[in-house]
Formats: sequence, C-alpha cells, structure tokens
Amino acid sequence: MQVAKDKVVTLHYQLSEGNGEVLESNRGQIPLAYLHGHRNLLIGLEEALTGMSIGESKKVTLEPEQAYGIRKENLTQRVPVKHLLSKHKRLQPGSVVRVQTGEGPAAGTVVKVGKFMIDVDFNHPFAGKTLVFDVTVEQVRDASEEELKHGHAHGAGGHHH
Ligand code: ZN
Repeated sequence: MQVAKDKVVTLHYQLSEGNGEVLESNRGQIPLAYLHGHRNLLIGLEEALTGMSIGESKKVTLEPEQAYGIRKENLTQRVPVKHLLSKHKRLQPGSVVRVQTGEGPAAGTVVKVGKFMIDVDFNHPFAGKTLVFDVTVEQVRDASEEELKHGHAHGAGGHHH
C-alpha cells in the first residue's frame, strides 16, 4: 500500500535545520500517525510523501517559504508577565510561551525578561529556517469513516479523545 489521500500513515521522522542542527525527532519512540491529504502536515511534506511505500525513507527539504515563512522584523511585542497563558519555572530568552493578546492566544519566543514585562517575538520558532525532514514510512492503512469525518488519525501516535 502506498501513501495516498485518505490513508492513515505512520511515520518516523527527524527534523533538522538546513545547517544540520536537529530540531525534533521521534526515532526510537512511538511513530506519528496522521491522515494524509487533509493538511495535517506541511503541504510540501505531504506532497513529497505521496506515493511512498511502507519501509521507504526519504529526505525532504523545505525552504522557509514552503515551511513556516520568512522571519518578520516587527513581530516583537512587550507584554505583561501576567498575560502569560503557559506556566514556567524560569523564564529566559529562548523560552517558548503562550500569551493572551488582543487577537487571542498566540505562541512566541521570549527575547528579554523584565520584572513585570517580557519582550516576546511572535514569529513561529521555525520561521526563516530551511527544514530538512528525514522520514521513514512505517505503516499505511485505510482510514476509518470516523477518522475521515474528524479529519485526523486515531489510535497510537494519532489523536486521542
Ligand atoms: Zn477524532
């Protein structure tokens, strides 16, 4: 069976930056299960996976434009610490936080920490990065009707209700 629309695909992957630094990996852990063709992954990654067979590996490189976009310069905001939605033992530059903003909750990266205020960069942490996905297709199966209705995979490595 090959990766195609409406199949549940199980993946091991390692995500690195263009310079080789590893950002994420689930190798040696429960593989990720997702429903193909329903925009559950970056579109460029789904396109590269289409047609792959069980056991096949591939290296997929996505430029920032195909991944999380270019970094924008003016996305740093000074926000009150009390507007933080995420809990942190110790806030420091580089911490990823969730903040209540005028437009709703948003994720960002701490740039500077003050006593009552923090500067948060609201660029996606992977914005401006070339991403290299090293993927191995572990399993491909037909999706259940329920999974198709929900638009995501259920079971190990997928969505839990
Ligand atoms: Zn569901």
